[in-house]
Amino acid sequence: MKPRNHQPIQLLFSFLFFFCSVFLATAQDLYLQCGEIFDAGSGKFLQERTLVVSGNKITKVLSGFSAGSAKDSVIDLRQKTVLPGFIDLHVHIESESSPSRYLERFTQNDVDVAFESTIYAKRTLMAGFTTVRDLGGSGVNIALRKAVDKGLVVGPRIFTAGKAIATTGGHADPTNGVRWDAMGDPGPKEGVVNSPEDAKKAVRQRYKDGADVIKVTATGGVMSVAKNGQNPQFTTEELKAIVATAKDYGMLTAAHAHGDEGMRRAILAGINTIEHGTLMEEPTMDLMIEHNTFLVPTISAGKAAAAMADIPGFLPSVVAQKAREIGPISERNFKKAYEKGVPIAFGTDAGVSPHGENGREFTFMHEAGMPVVAALQSAMTTNAKLLGMENALGALREGYFADIVAVDENPVKNVRTLEKVTFVMKNGTVYKN
Ligand SMILES: [Zn+2]
Repeated sequence: MKPRNHQPIQLLFSFLFFFCSVFLATAQDLYLQCGEIFDAGSGKFLQERTLVVSGNKITKVLSGFSAGSAKDSVIDLRQKTVLPGFIDLHVHIESESSPSRYLERFTQNDVDVAFESTIYAKRTLMAGFTTVRDLGGSGVNIALRKAVDKGLVVGPRIFTAGKAIATTGGHADPTNGVRWDAMGDPGPKEGVVNSPEDAKKAVRQRYKDGADVIKVTATGGVMSVAKNGQNPQFTTEELKAIVATAKDYGMLTAAHAHGDEGMRRAILAGINTIEHGTLMEEPTMDLMIEHNTFLVPTISAGKAAAAMADIPGFLPSVVAQKAREIGPISERNFKKAYEKGVPIAFGTDAGVSPHGENGREFTFMHEAGMPVVAALQSAMTTNAKLLGMENALGALREGYFADIVAVDENPVKNVRTLEKVTFVMKNGTVYKN
């Protein structure tokens, strides 16, 4: 009687074999029929193309509309303008501005932050931003990146700085504004440095934590509970130590900077991007061009900060004062920098401005004098390069990741269409249609 027991197992194996063969034979490709696509490299819109997506990659870009074979699926985007997924080089995915934000530092645990961050991640992706660079939070951003990569959380691809690096009392010192007896003395592990040796250790700690990029706060900041938003907050030696150490570990560097002297020091130290660049003077703009340092203008943040300053009680008074002054300048100075030829990347500082409204930055850049095509290229070609991903992201090309978005109108005719993305695919999966 014994052998009879083997039968169900044999049957199961035959069934599995049959099932696998059928599955392999019908492994289908997606055929995205696009009314027009944006070729980020040339800056041209190409009419009637079909993007073939196999797994998580674009495998073909065909002229005209193709439907593949019977086993393939078609997505009809024939009435749409199709673009590479947008990349935002400056977000803070863990949090968002609110009147209770400053108090939340004392009431929220990391798990609370983590749950909230999943909402912001989803909003960001649904707005067409398939990749973001997170420039500083508590470290939850690193766990969030892992959760998104595993498919546990819906969100964009994340490249993160973990916790930003500051100096004592500087922008991103986590205990600014705290009662004296609770301040403690945060050090390199917490991202606070006061010498080149500290700076090296802070970078190495971030490498150990799993950060992808290093963020320093080269000057004071608008949103921190401190008097000055512009003063330089690192010595040149400290900045040089940060850049050199980051280079050793294959990490790019970003410097938050509002005041001119701080950004000048950061550029000379070899920083890759200057964030905000609010009060940049002309000789510093020349220095940016000379060193091929990119400006991430974050006009959205300037506008959002100024708007919050006008709402009584929204911001602590020391912050409101700075927000009122610095906010409106960012747009003006961006215009000047762009016209002078400073290399421009795309970033919003979402978290200061609301997550999911990242697309407004295109409108702001355009209003400040940048052609829509150039703004798009900054969020695609340029940003992919600044993430070290120029061969995988930022273009609708064979072999690139299938990060694809669509809008209802040609953005050159109506830039605001970029604020209302109607189709989102990331890594070959459709999230919005
Ligand atoms: Zn920021």
